[in-house]
Amino acid sequence: MPSSHPADPHHFRRRGVLFVLSSPSGAGKSTIARKLLADEPELAMSVSATTRSMRPGEVDGKDYHFVDLEEFRRMVAADEFLEWAHVFDHRYGTPRAQVEAMLAAGKDVLFDIDWQGAQQLFQIAGGDVVRVFIFPPSMEELRARLTNRATDSSAVIEARMARAANEVSHWDGYDYVLVNDDVEQCFQGVKTILAAERLKRSRQTGLIGFIRKLTRTS
Ligand code: 5GP
Repeated sequence: MPSSHPADPHHFRRRGVLFVLSSPSGAGKSTIARKLLADEPELAMSVSATTRSMRPGEVDGKDYHFVDLEEFRRMVAADEFLEWAHVFDHRYGTPRAQVEAMLAAGKDVLFDIDWQGAQQLFQIAGGDVVRVFIFPPSMEELRARLTNRATDSSAVIEARMARAANEVSHWDGYDYVLVNDDVEQCFQGVKTILAAERLKRSRQTGLIGFIRKLTRTS
């Protein structure tokens, strides 16, 4: 994705990182994403559009852009999504314009999207995309977390458990995998991945000027 990124300890320009976090729901991805955003001022969250209904506590425009099926279809037809997919009988998509604006503003972008989204984003933006998958420590623990969350009915929880197995089976479409048995440890792992990816030579598009100066002979 064409963009450059001014934020760097040495002020080299670099390409923005498209940082994808995927996991079965309940594996702690939202907590990790929240901590990461609080800790990383150069990282902005991509807010998806979805046709699912709002859960208690969610805010339209912050957690998701909640749209009806007609509006979602309009957005698909107008090519307004970078990627979109069916998840749990609903549609979810990443609006293209906000991501482009974030990259243009020099931000890295965080995506909480499923494996289908990660795959599509990788098709479009290849080397700019970093895909991280978070495993729950066990399926029993995942069920306990979904149940304790108390936002979904038991039928929805069962559907999420069934989908979790499917989601996990796509682990090999990711660059990094982590187990979230300790949120702080997992968070530190994710931070380390982001830090290392920011330093990749292939992202440092502004290096050449520095190298020329460094190697200039008088
Ligand atoms: P939830 O309904 O629990 O908020 O999200 C359900 C699943 O949809 C999660 O796995 C989440 O990562 C995924 N998801 C959320 N937004 C998008 C999106 O824009 N694109 C895709 N492909 N998946 C998304």
